[in-house]
Formats: sequence, C-alpha cells, structure tokens
Amino acid sequence: MHSPGGPPGVSGRRMFPAMSLRNRIALYYTGTTAVLMAVVFALIFLTVDRVVYSHFDEELRHEVSETLSKDHVQEHDICEFDRLKAVGLDEARVGDRLHSSQDIKKVADIDPDYVQLVDSNGQIVSRTANLARNVLIFTPSYSGVRFYNAELAQSTMRQVQVPLVDRSGTVKGYLIVAVPLKSAMMILRDLKYIVIAWYPVIIIALFGLTRLIASRSIRPIEEVIATAESITQANFDRRMPLPARQDELYRLSATINALLDRLQDAFRREKQFTADASHELKTPLAVVKGTLDVLVRKPRDVVHYEDRVRYCLDELNRMARLIDQLLLLARSESDSSSPNIAPVDVGEVIATVLSRVEPLAAARHRSIDTKIGFSGRVSADPAMLEMMLANILSNALKYSPEGSVVEIRTGAQNGTAFCTIADHGIGIPDSKLQSIFDRFYRVDESRSSSTGGSGLGLSIVRRLADLQHIGVEVSSREKLGTTFTLIFPVVRN
Ligand code: ADP
Repeated sequence: MHSPGGPPGVSGRRMFPAMSLRNRIALYYTGTTAVLMAVVFALIFLTVDRVVYSHFDEELRHEVSETLSKDHVQEHDICEFDRLKAVGLDEARVGDRLHSSQDIKKVADIDPDYVQLVDSNGQIVSRTANLARNVLIFTPSYSGVRFYNAELAQSTMRQVQVPLVDRSGTVKGYLIVAVPLKSAMMILRDLKYIVIAWYPVIIIALFGLTRLIASRSIRPIEEVIATAESITQANFDRRMPLPARQDELYRLSATINALLDRLQDAFRREKQFTADASHELKTPLAVVKGTLDVLVRKPRDVVHYEDRVRYCLDELNRMARLIDQLLLLARSESDSSSPNIAPVDVGEVIATVLSRVEPLAAARHRSIDTKIGFSGRVSADPAMLEMMLANILSNALKYSPEGSVVEIRTGAQNGTAFCTIADHGIGIPDSKLQSIFDRFYRVDESRSSSTGGSGLGLSIVRRLADLQHIGVEVSSREKLGTTFTLIFPVVRN
C-alpha cells in the first residue's frame, strides 16, 4: 500500500524530510571548504609557531656564543666552564667594554636574557644579576644542546641548556640561557583565538553565500519543473523554455522536449489506432445490424434470406479477421512477445505458406512461380516468418489482375540472404509507399474495401520483422507491379 496521492515507492522516501538540492550543494561545498580552511589555518598556525620558536632559538644560540666566545679568552688551556666560573657570568657577558659594577648592574637591568652556570651535579656556580633569587630549571637528563620551554616566576621562558666540556671531553657543567616568551606567546595565543572565533563566522557566511548561489543556479531547473508540472493532456504541445546558453540545462530542456515530442507522437498514434479500430469494428456491425433489421421487417423468399445471411456472414468473417489481426498486433507490441529465433530454412517456410495459399490463388486464376536460390539458414522465428510471407503473398495476389504470375525468389548477397515477392499488379504510387506500413492505411479506400483489406496486414509484417531483425524493403511502379524484399541475418555455420 502506498500513501494516497503519491506514486508507489515515493511514500517510503518521504518518511525523512528530503533536503533541498540547494541546501545539499551548500552543505557539501561548505563542508569541504571548512575542512580545507581548518587544514590551512592549522598549517598557518604551526608555521608561525615554528618561525617564532626558531627566532627565539636563534637568539639563544647567539647569546650562548656571546657568552662563550669572548676574545679575551687567551689561556687556551682553561676550559670554558672554569673561565666562566672564575670570571662570573655578568662580567663574562659584558666583557671589556664596561668595568665598574655599576655598569654591570645597568646592563643587567635592561638585558632580558637570563644566564645560569651549573656544575655537572646541577649546583649553581654563577648566574646573571637579573635572575636575583630565581633559578633556571636544570634538566640532568639532557646530554647535548637542548632547546625547550620552561617556567620562571610564573612566565614561560625559552631555554637552552649547553654542556661545557674540558679538553678531555668530560662534562664540567652546563650553561643555561633563557629568554622570556611572553610577547610571542601572546601573539600566538591571540592568533589562535582569532582563528577559532572567526572560523564558525566564516563557515556560516560561506554556507549562506553558497546557498544563495546554488538557488540562483538551480532556478532554471525550477522553471523546467514548473513547466513540466503544468503540462497536461490539454496542453501537451507545451515545451520547456530553452536557455540562451547551450549548457547542461539547455541539453536537459532539449532532451525533455524531444521526449515530449516522442510521447505526443505515440499518444497521437495510439489515439488514432483506437479511433480507427473502433470505426473498423463498428462498420461491419452496423452493416449486419442494418441488414438484419430490414430482413425481419416483412417475410421474404428463401433466396433473398440466403443472400442476406451470406452477406452478413462475410461481414462477420471480416470482423473476426480484423479482431485476430488487432490481437496479434497488440500481442506483438507487448513486452512479453519475444520471438523464438532459430536457424530457419526459408525455402521450407515458403513451401508451407504456398501449400495454404496456392489453392486460393488457383481459384482466383493467379499463379505463383517460386525459385529458391539460397539453401542456407537464416535466423528467424518460423511462425512469425510464415505470417509475414502469407500477408505479403496474399496482398500480391489481391492487388494483381487475373491470369498474372507472382514471383518468389530467394538468394544471398553481400553476406545476407534475401527473399523477394514480386507481382505484376496495380502497383503503389510513390507518394504512398512510405505509408503502407501504417496501421489501417489503405492506398485506395474503395479499392481495398472491395478486396476485404483492413489496412493492418503490412503493419503486422513491419512489427514482426522488427522483432526478428529482418529488413523489409518495397519498390513499386504504378500499373506495373510491386516487389517486397525481406533481408535476413544469415546463420554462420
Ligand atoms: P490491406 O489489408 O488493405 O491489404 P495492408 O496493410 O496489407 O492492408 O496493405 C496496405 C495497403 O497497401 C493496401 O491497402 C494496398 O493499398 C497497398 N498494398 C499492399 N500490398 C500491395 C501490392 N502488392 N500491390 C498494390 N498495393 C498494395
């Protein structure tokens, strides 16, 4: 069971409210951009972070070399540790330029770098005046030169710890230099906050913007939907507006228009078929009814009764034939009718048809001349092929004069087999040749009704030929005759 008003299958999907196309486009686009932006922001942040630290590390390196490589180290046999221990750190860093302790204090006040010398056990040997009572953290497990963050009096410092060795390579102590990270940390933190605060704002704005662009882009689709919804049986000739630019939307509209053209054509033919069929069935019924009505009005002699009844029987036979043909056409057009294609000997099928048709031809003083020039096998459904040949042959006999000969030939050419049925009859005008395969089409209404034709025979031939992939060609000259050619797919052995 499906919900009223909705096609089957749709009700299931409607259980979840469908997200509109414009929202979906906006969501996918924003989602992708959000991920990309997060990656870019993270990369920027990490790069800035790294650059900032590398600047500090560079500064620390400079400070270390300033402290260690004073040119007043003349006694080379004294290792750096012993020299710094002897001179004191403040004195070593300020160097020759300042001498008084007053000067040293001044420099220490403005110098933001903290330097500390520890021995190999971590005991402080010397430290710069600005360290006052504070101590730089020493980490005994760091063997080589090591840069790291550490805390000093509740502020974060960038520190380097450098081992000092004597000539024999024994670690005598460590030089620890630290610079405050305060301003850099603030910049990094601010950058982080700015990014985190703006990120959702940018994403929301982007979603709104994309949704707006998506709505504008799909507006033409909505027009197509509105037009499609407005098309009913009453205005089936309405078509989608074609956009000026030949883009995908143009192709969509043009494709729907072509589909509508085909549908309209099919509906028109279907309508015509129903009208024609009911007309064809109503005519003999009306004739029979009228004849019988007149017949029962007053008593008549036996000969008259016999004549009228025979006339009615002829009409009823015609009707029965028509109904058979209509059913055959309907069945051949339903999906279930699939031909039983097999390798078929055309000569054999022709012989079967001839056994039925030849007595009738002889009774009407026409003869059939058959020459089989192809003995191979073709792929076809034998019963369908029989029906096709019978229809074409009976037409050839019907539309040719008494005493004439209908010729049947088979042969092979260019890898295909063919069968021609040629008569020397009334022929078909060139202008009508295209229409003879249409349902209920008769070249000459009065001529055909006298021969009992319904105009369905050749449409059945075309339909059965299509089902079996057999080609049908016709050529005709008025008053000279008509030739039908069937072209078969050959079976290769
Ligand atoms: P019908 O039952 O009227 O013969 P068909 O579909 O078999 O219907 O043929 C359609 C029309 O084609 C016929 O009415 C006739 O006018 C024309 N036609 C078919 N075959 C021949 C032929 N061999 N010679 C002349 N006209 C033909």
